[in-house]
Formats: sequence, C-alpha cells, structure tokens
Amino acid sequence: MGDCAQSSWMGSPHLHEFLGRGPAYAAALGELAAETLWPTRCAVCGSPGSVLCARCRRALAFIDQWRACPRCGAPWGLRECTECNALSMEGTGFAKPPFEGCVSAVLFDDAAARIVRLNKDAGERRLADWMAYYIASALPPEWARASCVTFIPDSAKARLRRGYDHGRELAAATAGLLDLPLVDALGEPRAHDQRELGRADRFANMAKALSLTESPASRARLALYDSVIVVDDVFTTGATLYSAAQALRADSDRRIWAATFARVY
Ligand SMILES: [Zn+2]
Ligand SMILES: [Zn+2]
Repeated sequence: MGDCAQSSWMGSPHLHEFLGRGPAYAAALGELAAETLWPTRCAVCGSPGSVLCARCRRALAFIDQWRACPRCGAPWGLRECTECNALSMEGTGFAKPPFEGCVSAVLFDDAAARIVRLNKDAGERRLADWMAYYIASALPPEWARASCVTFIPDSAKARLRRGYDHGRELAAATAGLLDLPLVDALGEPRAHDQRELGRADRFANMAKALSLTESPASRARLALYDSVIVVDDVFTTGATLYSAAQALRADSDRRIWAATFARVY
C-alpha cells in the first residue's frame, strides 16, 4: 500500500512544479510525504511523533558516572572493578586498558539495544543526535582538555550497505556538541564482524585490526592534536576500542579517551 501511495505521488503532474519552487521547498515536501507514509516513531516504544520520545528518554538506564570505573568505564567499578583488574585482563593481550579513561552513557539494556540497532541497521540516522547528546553529557569535565574526536570506521561493505558511515556520524554529532574537530584518524578495520564472538575471540579478532589511516592529509591533521576522544556506539568487551587506542598511539604518545553511548555489563 505504501508503494502504491508513493508511486502515485511521484507520478503527480504537479511534481515538477513543486520542485521548480526550489530545493528547500522540495525537501520540505519530501519530508512531509515521508512523514505521511512512514510516520516517525519512537525507537523504543513505537509511539508516533519523535525518534525517541520523552518518556523513553527519561527511562534510559543512565550510568552513574560517580560510581563507574574511571579507567574502563564499567558501571559500579569505582572502588573495585571486575572488568579491568589483572585477572579479567588475562587473554586480552593488554595489562590494562590502553586509554586514560572510558565513559559510557547508558547500560546496554533492551531500550539501548533498540536505539543502537535502529541507528546502525535500520538507517534511523536521526537517533545519532540523541546518542551523541547523551555521550557528550556523560563526559567528565577534565575531558575538556581533549583536542579532537575520532571514530572506528565502518568496513567498506557495511558503509556500502548503509550508504553512510554510522560511526562517523555519531562521532561528528558528538564532536559538534563538544565543539571539537572531527579527525578521520583510523583506516578501515581488517577484522570480521564480531557480533557473534565471545570475549577472548573478540580480542583475538581485533588484535591489530585497526591502524592509522593511510591518507596523508588525515595523518597530517591528526598530528596537530595531542589528545583524542574515540567515540563508538557500544562498548561490548572493549576489544574494538582497545585496538583503536593502540593504533592511535602508533605515531605518538597522545592521550586517548574512549566514549560510547551504551555499555554491555
Ligand atoms: Zn518511547
Ligand atoms: Zn575498570
């Protein structure tokens, strides 16, 4: 039925007249048509009106940053962290997390999983603005010393499937809120999709999977900054962010922080 309505609108003899009134008018009209055919719904509860309704925003499982581990970001890990002690770091190839600190805004519960999935796999790009807002709001004041923001690039295959780099969009929105430059610091990952892998396998999969970009222009730009916040959507085991931090130290001992929207715990 949606297809039928769309084709009748697209075939309207008045379409060229609308488009003739200018790109802004055509875009507004396109938005109106899309909104009529596929009304915006909340990613979590499905109620119409916005991509994330006020009720679901209030109900997000925010991590109390005063109780989280300042080193790895694990919720409730301030005094004694079960995620980044010597025992739990075994098998990761790291003695400790390779960054100054890590912060995640919310727990990866059902609501966060829906937000991430709709943003990542269903093309709801507007959710990146909310995710970025919560990331930026969760960062400790001392992170204001960071000089730029970067991200974990999508694989070429994923970027082709989505038509854009979802991680770059999230990082760009976060950088905008923090008033920091976004740098394309890392090259495309050389690892397989690890959604099905366990903790040890993820670290093995991601070991050396990331490296600095080969673009001379981006490298020159990165060289201007002595500290970086790496933004990603989900902290699962940390394998991806560890690999990113390691790569970002390949040419300099710059300071690295990591920030994600959600944290698996
Ligand atoms: Zn909702
Ligand atoms: Zn920790």
